[in-house]
Amino acid sequence: MGLKIYLDGKLVNEDEARISVFDHGLLYGDGVFEGIRAYNGRVFKLDEHLHRLYDSARAIMLKIPLDKKETKKAVLMTLRANGLSNAYIRLVVTRGKGDLGLDPKKCPKPTVFIITHKITLYPRELYYKGMEVITVPTIRNLVSAIDPQIKSLNYLNNILAKIEANLAGMQEAIMLNKDGYVVECTGDNIFIVRDGVLFTPPTWLGVLSGITRNTVLELAIKLKIKTKEEVFTRYALYTADECFLTGTAAEIIPVVKIDDRVIGEGMPGKITLRLMKEFRVLTKKEGIPI
Ligand code: PMP
Repeated sequence: MGLKIYLDGKLVNEDEARISVFDHGLLYGDGVFEGIRAYNGRVFKLDEHLHRLYDSARAIMLKIPLDKKETKKAVLMTLRANGLSNAYIRLVVTRGKGDLGLDPKKCPKPTVFIITHKITLYPRELYYKGMEVITVPTIRNLVSAIDPQIKSLNYLNNILAKIEANLAGMQEAIMLNKDGYVVECTGDNIFIVRDGVLFTPPTWLGVLSGITRNTVLELAIKLKIKTKEEVFTRYALYTADECFLTGTAAEIIPVVKIDDRVIGEGMPGKITLRLMKEFRVLTKKEGIPI
């Protein structure tokens, strides 16, 4: 017995969960998605993820055939069907089946599917030791082309950067925008600490409004750590006291080396460790019960 997948209103077995080769999600990356986590029988920040999904869909004029309440039910139903209380949830809405042209008018019915599975995070030891990353030549999509705030199925921009990271033997890459400002990583947001202040690039610069990012900003305020959403360059990375990345799959992961420059003391910083601890507490107690 394999996984149960939610597909267009029904739970089907993994090997029966099939999508047409004419689906524009596949042909053109025309669609939107979310990556969500469940911890200890609760779905973390589900409303925030649904909000972002519906915003992404609005931005690309894709009408999701379910309302938010129905989508929430579908997510919970899929988790229950698989008996999962800790999981990674992939919620995808594509433009649906069309013809070989790219016109979305030819796609009458969006495809909705939900996969609930385990997630492989970065190796565990990196959360203690911190990771090394590089900046890569591929710039992040322009806000005037595909705004990175749209979490679309079109991830080739990030994949090109990921290939560059792989070639350098790195697990993640920091991407800059066209003006050389730091924006985000291929699948994570980025934070730096300088003189006790927590900095992260503003979303208008071309950054996904990460749910983990926003949770960390809220946590910092609660912990009385000063936060600033501000534009910065690689220089600020190289001279930072601390650096960490955030994402639904990664959670909070410390960075100790960037482009071969040691960050701070070369170990996860104090503020980073405090935020990691508080984040763990939050994931244990918050969320929508499955
Ligand atoms: N930036 C990009 C490009 C992403 O794909 C992701 C999600 N994997 C993030 C940032 C982190 O966002 P979230 O915290 O909502 O997972």
